[in-house]
Amino acid sequence: MPGGHTQTLRPFLWRASKLYPDTEVVSRNHDGMSRQTYAEYEERTAQLANALDEHGIEQGDRVGTFCWNTDRHFEVYFAAPSMGAQLHTINPLLPDEHIRYIVDDANDEVIFVDPSLAEKIAGAAEGAEEFEGVDLIVMDDSPVEAIDGPVYEEFVAGHDTDYDWPELPSEQPAGMCYTSGTTGKPKGVEYTQSMLWSHTMMSQSPQGIPMEDDDVVMPVVPMFHVNAWGMPFTATAGGAKQVFPGPSPDADDLARLIEEEGVTITAGVPTVWLGLMEYCEDNEVDLSTLDQVIVGGSAAPESMIRWFDDRGVEVLHAWGMTEMSPIGSVAHLKSDLEDEDYQTQLDKRSKQGIMVPGLEFKVIDEDGNRIAWDGEEFGELYVRGPSVTKEYFKRPEANEEDFEDGWLKTGDVVSVDPDGYIKIVDRAKDVIKSGGEWISSVELENAIMAHEDVSEATVIGVPHEKWQERPVAFVVPTEGADREGLDDEILELLDEEYPKWWLPDAVEYIEEVPKTATGKFSKKDLREQYTGSVELHEGSAPEEAAPESDD
Ligand code: AMP
Repeated sequence: MPGGHTQTLRPFLWRASKLYPDTEVVSRNHDGMSRQTYAEYEERTAQLANALDEHGIEQGDRVGTFCWNTDRHFEVYFAAPSMGAQLHTINPLLPDEHIRYIVDDANDEVIFVDPSLAEKIAGAAEGAEEFEGVDLIVMDDSPVEAIDGPVYEEFVAGHDTDYDWPELPSEQPAGMCYTSGTTGKPKGVEYTQSMLWSHTMMSQSPQGIPMEDDDVVMPVVPMFHVNAWGMPFTATAGGAKQVFPGPSPDADDLARLIEEEGVTITAGVPTVWLGLMEYCEDNEVDLSTLDQVIVGGSAAPESMIRWFDDRGVEVLHAWGMTEMSPIGSVAHLKSDLEDEDYQTQLDKRSKQGIMVPGLEFKVIDEDGNRIAWDGEEFGELYVRGPSVTKEYFKRPEANEEDFEDGWLKTGDVVSVDPDGYIKIVDRAKDVIKSGGEWISSVELENAIMAHEDVSEATVIGVPHEKWQERPVAFVVPTEGADREGLDDEILELLDEEYPKWWLPDAVEYIEEVPKTATGKFSKKDLREQYTGSVELHEGSAPEEAAPESDD
């Protein structure tokens, strides 16, 4: 048994099931709450592995998931990698075309599908050759209309509760997640056993996000987004109770789960916490068990850190990337800052933080020099370490652009203060992050420019209180074009191809897109010219476009 001398995930589950057999794994599901212990969970993963074996899944095969944060999803998390297959979490919020591309690119053999997402995947799969030979399995105990395939509980039922887990090399691919690029289709990141093992151990270090046997851990960040920041693995390694908040939880669900299950650590993007904060202002919610809220994916506002501080809850602001499994830095307060005044400490805690042990970084300015750590100079952040990918899956041109001498170029522009705290000051990559998920501005631009009355178009992200960023389109109509109604036509055009939450909040007409010296669109100039002056488009209120919800 497990893993021998290599770095694999399997020993984490072995430890939890042997040391903490009675600790619970709890999940909000479509039909209410479900509960199991680590001992039962281990048996279920063995049953699932046996079922996948019988289904013909072999080492190296990819097992897709199209699911929310549930206990069944968590069963695939250990079963697939530990049998030598690869867990491939697919983001159900992506446009259908991206989903087809990803399934084809990854060559998934099977995909486990949450029942609430069955129609979405069936729509993407309809008539698509990318889905040929892919078996869809409904993550439930009863069939759904949209999918003509087996049901999860029948799939695993009756299988042996023991599995002869293989010895796996550290370099065995264990996971996979796609991230949106500036141009072109999403890029696949493969996680080896060793990357996920390293990430778990780094997270468990005191300056990571450690989770212990008296913790109750609730990942709100989706399990399709970099393995919910690796929390299910870290929590298992520490023997913590786990709480999965289920399909599209709202603030009411989260508050109830925190209270009823006694959650001590939870994590998600700022949008989620803004919703919970608002809910707590209007309702009596007992947050007394909560020790830490991990805020990442987008910058944590200082007011959020204060709000939780006032209620005795520590916000840990974290930065990371899909390519990094994902944790990079966490804004822990260094011990020599403990005597500083509250505002000085808040200034540090609002930054993206200090690198977790095990990673290295450098910051390179426009002239190719390393910047000084003076909190003033800035440049692009490069990182490397055992949990950082060395390449994209089958994308040599992206590798050329995003990696250099073994370093990952993050596309984040940062300064570093003399204490080593990293602060993101800009983003070099041309993408928009709304509610924690990416929108490709370049794709929207190309789609808009396909309209015959548009001569130039560019899309930028403008700051938004709830969603952090929302897209706004700037359009130069062709000479003589009728501008009346053109904005609505553009939105309709985009609506056909993209999910609602991708649609720009406003379409603004301009006479010319500002250009750089080399004639490229200068989004920097446009942002400086227009940010804050935009009237948001009524019809595409971001409330309807919540990326966390089934759109
Ligand atoms: P993803 O690969 O989807 O997890 O996105 C990674 C990117 O999200 C980073 O390169 C940053 O641009 C952004 N990001 C992640 N965490 C933070 C944070 N705490 N503050 C600001 N931006 C962040």
